[in-house]
Amino acid sequence: MRKKIVAANWKMNTFYFDGMKLLSEIIPMVSDEVSADVKLIIAPPFIHLNSASHLLVDNKKIFLAAQNCFFEAKGAYTGEISAGMLASVGVKYVICGHSERRKYFHEDDAVLAKKILLILKYNMQPIFCCGETLAQREEKKHKEVVTAQIEKALFSLDENQIQKISIAYEPVWAIGTGVNATPEQAQEMHAFIRQLIKNKSGKNISENISILYGGSVTPANAKSLFSCEDVDGGLVGGASLNSRDFVDIVKAAI
Ligand code: PEP
Repeated sequence: MRKKIVAANWKMNTFYFDGMKLLSEIIPMVSDEVSADVKLIIAPPFIHLNSASHLLVDNKKIFLAAQNCFFEAKGAYTGEISAGMLASVGVKYVICGHSERRKYFHEDDAVLAKKILLILKYNMQPIFCCGETLAQREEKKHKEVVTAQIEKALFSLDENQIQKISIAYEPVWAIGTGVNATPEQAQEMHAFIRQLIKNKSGKNISENISILYGGSVTPANAKSLFSCEDVDGGLVGGASLNSRDFVDIVKAAI
């Protein structure tokens, strides 16, 4: 049966010592307050990963993620970070296709498909983000948009590969805006995404894949979103920068 997952995306926030302090606050709170039924993932900026990995050594509840990786394995790509480098410092998950990367770095699903193969090659798990803009929703194209994103990025994977993916449905209009999708909107899209996976890879894989909701999750709305049948937890941006808020959101997933 699929696991509930709550993942923190710190984005380009926290200087090094602030990041270490935040993680050092979260670790004991999680060990005191969170049962093993939920998987926690933390995606800090790249420069925190190695030290965070040391802080999390032997920690069975919190896993480390990167917010991105490059789409080639190695070579003359000044300033980029490869999937293999991330794996070498203990990263287990990589966020892939966040709407901010699609928007500011023009990442498309063909590039994301390449990244996903590299992430899997180094035995890490992709958290694939998809979701529509406000204009696309207003034009009632949200299902069409999400279908295209998933088909292009994920449907060339074989069954063994696709079962290692987690999907984050993140409507762009809800990210960082304070306007979350309603539980009904989230459930509708999550059920739709699960059906897409079922059509492609069968019932067993679709029932076991975790589909997270992302977009202005807070301690106040997390329970109502995470209680939806097809919502398997969340990808949390802003609220993950406060240890108390983040741990309260995690507890809402239990
Ligand atoms: C995100 O960055 O993935 C996100 C969902 O951000 P926020 O929670 O701040 O909306």
